Amino acid sequence: ATHPVKLEEKERIQLLMSASLAIFLVLAQFCTTSAFAPILLSHPEAAARARHCAFWSGGWGANTAEALMRRRGARDERSRLLLMQAPGVAKLRRAENAPGNVFVDESCIDCGTCRWMSPCFTRSNDKSAVTVQPQSEEERLGALQAMVACPTGSIRTESPDPLSKQATLSFPLPVPGLSNVYHLGYHSPKSYGAAAYLLVREGGNVLVDSPRFNEALAKGIIALGGAKYMYMTHIDDVADHVRWSERLGCTRVMHASEAPRA
Ligand code: SF4
Repeated sequence: ATHPVKLEEKERIQLLMSASLAIFLVLAQFCTTSAFAPILLSHPEAAARARHCAFWSGGWGANTAEALMRRRGARDERSRLLLMQAPGVAKLRRAENAPGNVFVDESCIDCGTCRWMSPCFTRSNDKSAVTVQPQSEEERLGALQAMVACPTGSIRTESPDPLSKQATLSFPLPVPGLSNVYHLGYHSPKSYGAAAYLLVREGGNVLVDSPRFNEALAKGIIALGGAKYMYMTHIDDVADHVRWSERLGCTRVMHASEAPRA
């Protein structure tokens, strides 16, 4: 038979140990976030590495830092590209990719954007893959522009490409054969990866559907005369329309049959 006093002592010790462990875990997580999040905020590559490191309490610290990055607007397109090019992400590479620097990971939603933007990408097993590695500068730039346009950040590189910044700033991109039409890139997952365009015309430019909001893209649009209207073709393709209309001061237009569903 167990002695009642001894049992109480055992329970007390167990309770004390559990409470100590809980306090330790809370303090450890607090320190992880408060002390390291600012470092992660200013070093996206470190954040990407941390996300894949078991040291970070199952990713809690890195995930929190990433949420902070988003909240503070620190995760701009440059940071996004750096995250995609961090060495730690290479393990997400799809097996269908050809050996080389550029690859598609398993998060691809098969929207097809990269395949019509660059001949390096093809469809394989219901998703995209880099089946021909870009070689020339033009091919590398095309693949990186597809990386910028990809709505889900599924295109990555094993090591950073010096053409990344050029790719980031290359939009609006003239559509071949159409002198007044520009592809805006920056496809949004909120619009299921749909493409958005800028029509440059007398009487006011028209933004057709909404890309993912990006300040560099906004400046590129303004350099072409800004936008007077934003025409949204479907309720599914509106993405960041509020931010765009606020930034560009454009009037939003949508067919009455689509509007009631908003
Ligand atoms: S653009 Fe991105 S999401 Fe779309 S098919 Fe290519 S890799 Fe997949």
